[in-house]
Amino acid sequence: MREFIIATNNGHKVIEIERILSPLGITAVTAGERGIDLGNVVEDGDTFAANAYIKAKHAYDLCHCPVIADDSGLCVDALDGRPGVYSARYGGESLPYTEKNMLLLEELKDVPDEKRTAHFACAVCCILDDKTVIEVEGRCEGRIAHAPAGDGGFGYDPIFTVNGVSFASLTGEEKDRYSHRGNALRMLRDRLYELQENNSL
Ligand code: IMP
Repeated sequence: MREFIIATNNGHKVIEIERILSPLGITAVTAGERGIDLGNVVEDGDTFAANAYIKAKHAYDLCHCPVIADDSGLCVDALDGRPGVYSARYGGESLPYTEKNMLLLEELKDVPDEKRTAHFACAVCCILDDKTVIEVEGRCEGRIAHAPAGDGGFGYDPIFTVNGVSFASLTGEEKDRYSHRGNALRMLRDRLYELQENNSL
């Protein structure tokens, strides 16, 4: 088993990352689990990829071992792509997700079904050593529902639907099959697999 530090405080993301990478013999742990305090990093990039790199580099410089960071968010077409890279700060960083979701539904209250298209985006940056940085991006197209549904998942999962079903109504494995993070992590898994085959991991 090879251990990777996941640069996040979001336990849901760690579970999703480990579920997809574990077939490669990778265990996902947080920096906190290894007694390392990542502190706060300023995510001031204007793209998901820039912020994923900022988080991964910050963690790598502190941990000096393989790290993975993800930056993700919800982009709503009727809101010109908002909240996008500001998804975690939408309505204020401390606003609970149930209220963030209600705020978003309120913003979209006059938007008809055919214009409620949206996508989740996810950039993943993996730094293996001083010379090896792997960057991948995944996306998942869907729609914003009229009301929250389901009690699984996290964040905006209750209001984001694919084929009429909210992400929060799916099992973890079902969500992985469609999700932005699932798509990005499968690309990362393929790249890591190639490195394993060449004995470079
Ligand atoms: P980050 O942790 O800085 O990448 O912020 C991501 C934001 O997008 C947070 O508000 C998350 O809750 C939200 N988000 C990212 N991925 C998902 C997901 O898979 N489901 C629901 N919300 C998500």
